[in-house]
Amino acid sequence: MNNVTVIKHPVVEDSIKTLRDKNSDIVKFRQSLKRLGLFLAVEATKCIPTRKHQVETPLNITADAEEISDDGTLLIPILRAGLGFVDSFLEIIPRAKVAHIGMSRDHETLEAKVYLKTLPENLDAYEKVFVMDPMLATGNSCIKTLDILVEAGINPENIIVACAFTAPEGIEKIHKKYPQIKIITATIDQKLNDVGYIIPGCGDAGDRLYLL
Ligand code: URA
Repeated sequence: MNNVTVIKHPVVEDSIKTLRDKNSDIVKFRQSLKRLGLFLAVEATKCIPTRKHQVETPLNITADAEEISDDGTLLIPILRAGLGFVDSFLEIIPRAKVAHIGMSRDHETLEAKVYLKTLPENLDAYEKVFVMDPMLATGNSCIKTLDILVEAGINPENIIVACAFTAPEGIEKIHKKYPQIKIITATIDQKLNDVGYIIPGCGDAGDRLYLL
C-alpha cells in the first residue's frame, strides 16, 4: 500500500500482543501503548529537519553535529486514545506543541462529532503535524481531523498519521480523500465488524486506557 508504513520490530509485536490480550490490565495496557508509541514516534519523525551545530567535546575538540529542529512540529492526539501516544512523542521531539481534538462517535451512524478543539492560531505555520489516532477504524474521526487541518492551510504532505491498529477500510477511506498523507501503523488488521470495531483489534482503546 502506498504511503503506509507498518513497523516491523520484535518489541512492537510484543506490545501488540499485550494490547490485544483481554487479560492485560490497565497498567499493562498503558505501558504497552506508550512503548509502542516510541517506535511510531521514531519512525514518524525521520522527516523532521535538523540544524547544523558545533559542540566542544570533553577532549576540547570541536565536532560538527546536528540538532533537531522540532519547535515547528505539532502533535494532535485524537481523544481519548490519542493521549496514550503524547508522552512517547514528546520523548522524541520534546519541543513539539500539543493541540487536542476530541471526537465522539455516534454509535448508530458511526459518524464522528467534534466536542473539543484546542488548535493554535497560527496552525499553517507548523512544518510537520503528527495526528495520533491509535485506532484507525472507519477513518471518520481521522478524516474530520484532517479536514480541519487542511482547511486551516496545512499541506497534507506535511501531515503524518500515527496508529497502533488500523483497519483496511479506514486506510482506504483516508487515502481516497488525502492520498499524500503518510500513515504509520503497528498492524493492519483484518476488517471492521458491523459496529465499527477493528477485528481482531484490542477492543475500546479509550476505555482500556482510562476506565477499565
Ligand atoms: N476505537 C476503538 O477504541 N477500538 C476500535 O476497535 C475501533 C475504534
